Amino acid sequence: MIPYGRHTIEQDEIDAVVEVLRSDWLTTGPMVEEFESALADYIGANNAVAVSSGTAALHAVMNVLKIGPGDEVIVPAITFAATANAVVYQGGSPVFADVDPDTLLIDANEVERLVTGNTRAVVAVDYAGQPCDYDSLRRITDKHDLRLVSDACHALGAKYRDAPVGLQADLTVFSFHPVKHITTGEGGAVVTDDKELANRLRRFRNHGITLDHRMRAEQCTWEYDISEIGYNYRITDFQCALGLRQLGKIQKNIKRRNEIARVYDDAFAELQGVEPLGKADDVTHAYHLYVLRVDGTSCSVDRDRLYHGLRARGVGVNVHYKPVYLHSFYRKHFNTTDGLCPNAEKAYDSIISLPMYHSMKDEEVRKVIESVRESIK
Ligand SMILES: *Cc1c(COP(=O)(O)O)cnc(C)c1O
Repeated sequence: MIPYGRHTIEQDEIDAVVEVLRSDWLTTGPMVEEFESALADYIGANNAVAVSSGTAALHAVMNVLKIGPGDEVIVPAITFAATANAVVYQGGSPVFADVDPDTLLIDANEVERLVTGNTRAVVAVDYAGQPCDYDSLRRITDKHDLRLVSDACHALGAKYRDAPVGLQADLTVFSFHPVKHITTGEGGAVVTDDKELANRLRRFRNHGITLDHRMRAEQCTWEYDISEIGYNYRITDFQCALGLRQLGKIQKNIKRRNEIARVYDDAFAELQGVEPLGKADDVTHAYHLYVLRVDGTSCSVDRDRLYHGLRARGVGVNVHYKPVYLHSFYRKHFNTTDGLCPNAEKAYDSIISLPMYHSMKDEEVRKVIESVRESIK
């Protein structure tokens, strides 16, 4: 089975991890800072704070923005559930915005329509690896005095109008889960230019403690204070050693993903009934996912049959995502119902994610294309 996504681990990365395992610091040591500053440098941001997962990063963001009961945070209907879950962790209410039918990115007009007196923040999700329309979103968040957050878990290495993703929002979240562009096993980070927010993120990942273990050792004190509650969302040094090596290969990774996307685009342009998602001209797509839309009316298969046809041929396809508000938790606790976001629901019935990862071989790409052709015959 060709998987829809997978990690690549090379010998130099294994060596770097083993070196840390033999060192004095397994966690909260020098590798964490090294990885953080490499990530901040790569993006051109002032601060990066690494944590134990992308979900922890989202939770930390909602915490430092002081989201709480009664607060609304606008999120897109099509995203991984963690985007909305993080709002719920803080006792806030996610408000679901419909997506643009062509790109499946959050629709800025919908965002503006949903702003109320209780809205505190907007989370933009760079779905599939394509940056959102940040200029339009920023105009709205500025106008209504809201915070703009970017869930860029799909978009490390992407660019919006020549600027790396990570610079557009007040806080940007990345994930280092194995299906993402770079991996630390589990891991995530928040990037921000705001030093005070970065300090609060660092405390939140360590119980709310004002000085971490290493800082106390260096300052020769056992004293610390907790003024706000935090969690244990720390990442280990050996994970950061892996992340640092992986980050060094991101450019090659993004280039290969774009090559694969171009081969897919060309092949599917000639096929009736399937169509790739829309792409803006002024972005560099990071292609975490390659999503096809199936138009059941102009070819012999619908999405479900294409899914099973491809699986039967050894192609590990997937569907990203069911609109979050259709999950029973949200129906039960936030009274969401069918029909809330029509574009998202229509997309959910027709989309399929094809295999896309940077170590994918040309013959695997050809096999996927051939299998799509056969499945829709
Ligand atoms: C992967 C992902 C997350 C969560 O990241 P984890 O590291 O798996 O916790 C959040 N949002 C989106 C859009 C993601 O794709």
